[in-house]
Amino acid sequence: MKEKIYTIPVHDAYLSDAACPLCELERTTEQNLLSYYLGPAMMEPDVRVGTNEKGFCRDHWRRLYQAEENRLGLGLVLHTHVDDVHEELSKLLEDIVPNKRKGMFSGKDKTYKQKIEKTADKVSSRVGSCLICDRIAYTMDRYIEVIFYQFFQDPAFRQHFTSRKGYCLPHLAELLRSAADRLDQDEASQFLQVLVSQQNEAMAKLRTDVEWFTLKFDYRNATADWKDSKDALPRAIRNLTGCRDID
Ligand SMILES: [Zn+2]
Ligand SMILES: [Zn+2]
Repeated sequence: MKEKIYTIPVHDAYLSDAACPLCELERTTEQNLLSYYLGPAMMEPDVRVGTNEKGFCRDHWRRLYQAEENRLGLGLVLHTHVDDVHEELSKLLEDIVPNKRKGMFSGKDKTYKQKIEKTADKVSSRVGSCLICDRIAYTMDRYIEVIFYQFFQDPAFRQHFTSRKGYCLPHLAELLRSAADRLDQDEASQFLQVLVSQQNEAMAKLRTDVEWFTLKFDYRNATADWKDSKDALPRAIRNLTGCRDID
């Protein structure tokens, strides 16, 4: 049996009314991490080593700021992170400026393009790294491990899994990749039989709902029932992208 810290959230997500249970798991994981980094952990030396070095991605810096909590803590984290970025990048940037003393670009330098590009890559690597994204990826991987384990070991969970209505496309891809990675052929065929039939049914329903949304603009359908199509646009966008904050 996998550790309860992963099993309980998986069960909760499969019992929730979220369209994609993996989106629900990702949402709660992200929420917990945002609270964690805005809480007392922010001041712990080993956490600060991580925030100094990796920092957060665009989305997660924004979410940390917009939480409007612990401004001082966020300020201190930003100060030491900016310090770390400045320390590394200022030297690299100085190295691509013509400098006779160092011999850089003095005379013809055939490698000047590569040198500039390499510096751009270093800058990008500072932008792309994120402690929260890394921990979400790690945790989601543990959750998926639990999903497979429970699917084959726990008939009640398999029932919950079977009664779901598919996944958003990014999470569908993740499930398929994990199935290829973790399951033997017999297990994969059992798992895919359930997954594919619910996924195709859900996509067909989404297609019908989006179509009916557009047909409602026809004056002949003005008084007809909306059926399930009132929220068809955000639902379709959430399904295609895994985006959770559109409704
Ligand atoms: Zn999802
Ligand atoms: Zn991130």
